Amino acid sequence: MTRARVLLLNSALGPLDYRVPHGMAVEPGSIVVAPLGPRQLAGVVWEPERMASDGEVGDNRLRNLLSVIDAPPLRPELRRLIEWTADYYLAPPAAVLRMALPSSSALEGVRMITEYRLSGFRPERLTSQRLQALDRIGERQGLIRELAEIADVSDSVIRGLVKAGAIEAVEVNIDTPYPPPEPDHAPPILSARQSEVATKLVEAVDAKAFHPFLLDGVTGSGKTEVYFEAVAEAIRQGRQTLVLLPEIALTEPFLKRFAARFGHAPVAWHSDLRQSQRRRAWRAIASGEALVTVGARSALFLPYADLGLIVVDEAHETSFKQEEGVHYHARDVAVMRGHFDQCPVILASATPAIETRQQVEIGRYTELKLPGRFGKAEMPDIAAIDLIAEPPERGRWLAPRLVEAMRETLERSEQALLFLNRRGYAPLTLCRTCGHRFQCPNCTAWMVEHRLVKRLACHHCGHVMQPPEECPECHDEDSLVACGPGVERIADEAKLLFPDARTAIVTSDTLWSPAKAAEFVGRMEAGDIDIVIGTQLITKGYHFPNLTLVGVVDADLGLEGGDLRAAERSFQQIMQVAGRAGRGEKPGHVLIQTHNPKAPVMDALVSGDAQSFYEAETEARRHAGAPPFGRYAGIIISSEDQGMALETAKRIGRSAPKVDGMHVYGPAPAPLAMLRGRHRFRLLVHARRSLDVQNVIREWIGPIDWPNKVRVAVDVDPYSFL
Ligand code: ADP
Ligand code: ZN
Repeated sequence: MTRARVLLLNSALGPLDYRVPHGMAVEPGSIVVAPLGPRQLAGVVWEPERMASDGEVGDNRLRNLLSVIDAPPLRPELRRLIEWTADYYLAPPAAVLRMALPSSSALEGVRMITEYRLSGFRPERLTSQRLQALDRIGERQGLIRELAEIADVSDSVIRGLVKAGAIEAVEVNIDTPYPPPEPDHAPPILSARQSEVATKLVEAVDAKAFHPFLLDGVTGSGKTEVYFEAVAEAIRQGRQTLVLLPEIALTEPFLKRFAARFGHAPVAWHSDLRQSQRRRAWRAIASGEALVTVGARSALFLPYADLGLIVVDEAHETSFKQEEGVHYHARDVAVMRGHFDQCPVILASATPAIETRQQVEIGRYTELKLPGRFGKAEMPDIAAIDLIAEPPERGRWLAPRLVEAMRETLERSEQALLFLNRRGYAPLTLCRTCGHRFQCPNCTAWMVEHRLVKRLACHHCGHVMQPPEECPECHDEDSLVACGPGVERIADEAKLLFPDARTAIVTSDTLWSPAKAAEFVGRMEAGDIDIVIGTQLITKGYHFPNLTLVGVVDADLGLEGGDLRAAERSFQQIMQVAGRAGRGEKPGHVLIQTHNPKAPVMDALVSGDAQSFYEAETEARRHAGAPPFGRYAGIIISSEDQGMALETAKRIGRSAPKVDGMHVYGPAPAPLAMLRGRHRFRLLVHARRSLDVQNVIREWIGPIDWPNKVRVAVDVDPYSFL
């Protein structure tokens, strides 16, 4: 090649053409460094016929490529996936490419770097910043910048601590190989049913062909053990497996469990990795040395050398949908990746999404069922508490029957879990005298009180304020009241009721790193915790045999938003959290507090008749032409300047094309009318399933110009309607 079309890591640009200097060998997929103005940027060589360049330039005016990175070229399968994703989600291809090349240090030649960690020496008289740094860093190690980020202090605070001797430098070789997992290290003895299912999955791995599966089994039925057999088969063949998890908090327990089964942990990929770990993982994935990778959705676009199997665990989780940058759904893209890489894809779930069930229905996915829990464990019994008939005491949130069940559980030295999907102490602070409500200055949202850290915080933008001593409007003192419960308030109530019980709060505030999650699991397993109070973070994946009672504090909460998936999501969430109860030999009980015990979703939970609930929901979707029977796309127009945002939104709305089978709603102010200081307007496109909505939107919005200060984001197949 003497000329190369290069997709640079800059989302604002399309592909650019460069000259390949004499003696440099590049091919499609080569990772290269190219000049852009005065700067140098990494990028990937693309087939010119697949991507139009930003402007045809004569050979003699092209600039030279600077160098080729010493890493395997991106394979055509991945390049096709990147094109598909960019096309489907209407995203710049470079933004998708960035997810394949997310680590600049992975592209560098160096192998030794200097990292820092606590030396063990603690100088006297520390500033509060330094103290905070030492506390937060704990056992962690990383670059100065990474430690500064972990500790939420400036680089100079860390440097000061290095000078003072409290932090020391260590030389690290960052590319040490990963020990390979052993497929026959400690395999379980599968039940007849499990082994039947496992055999089908193993055969699919052997077939080396695209084959999507829905592995549908109740919580605790052994889905993980079963798909591990398919992973073992891929390992035997020396091919790579990718396991996607919905939360990085689940990574750590997964690593432990995997290591027990396969002798060594897999390679982990998530946002909490430090730079050296990220580089090491990326290179091992690209070379094919990393046989099994487990990660959050961002692991999906990595350049696996030879992918033989993809597993999406807890595949119904909406956290697989990315809501920023490229608005992709990792479950759906995983299936496409399996299609391009010609390998099986296993979607594992106890509560599969209606979209996934529909794929089974029309014969695209193969469903494999594990109907019962493994061994002696039984499904927990589920009952509803009608909060109108059996209300909690005044100012309390736990109904007498739930409190009594907790008492019995604790008396048997078993563990209880209270689920409330609300972080902090109270979702709203209100002045009793004048009615003033504390609102975020940047968002259409209340400030949430976090009593443990003595702050009010906005859960959308992170804005924090000191808890006020008086009302800012009427200046009345002692007039402020906390309204409604969050997990911290429930924890207070639990402590009041059971002063001797040891409680733990599990939210993203307390379990903000895999290490914290691991610590929590350790304490649960050791029996150091009696009552857990947690948000959705606690509903997934965990296996605590001594946990026998689950109380759902407010089952109506999930239904509030009212979007098309609200009932389904509530059902899934409560089934998942119920699935934490009674996973060992002891039976589990679940109590659901609700104001609407007659609502179909409550009825389905209590009666265990998921089938008719799903059928009714599916029928309702079919009737409304909602997904998977029809399609939506959201168009979100935002700007710090409200007038500009509105003007652009109106212009986009006015130029909406009249297309048969498509309807455009809006523009209207978004429910979250302000977010991070930006005013937001939404349009909603509703279309027939067979319509190529992306193309319509491309041709519709493509020619429209808007001011620099306005951002227009398209969300194809939206999960959030805020
Ligand atoms: P799921 O992923 O469906 O929730 P798991 O795979 O986590 O289920 O299994 C639940 C529990 O039962 C785990 O502790 C698991 O190790 C155990 N288990 C499941 N199948 C077997 C088996 N065949 N032999 C031994 N233990 C098993
Ligand atoms: Zn805010």
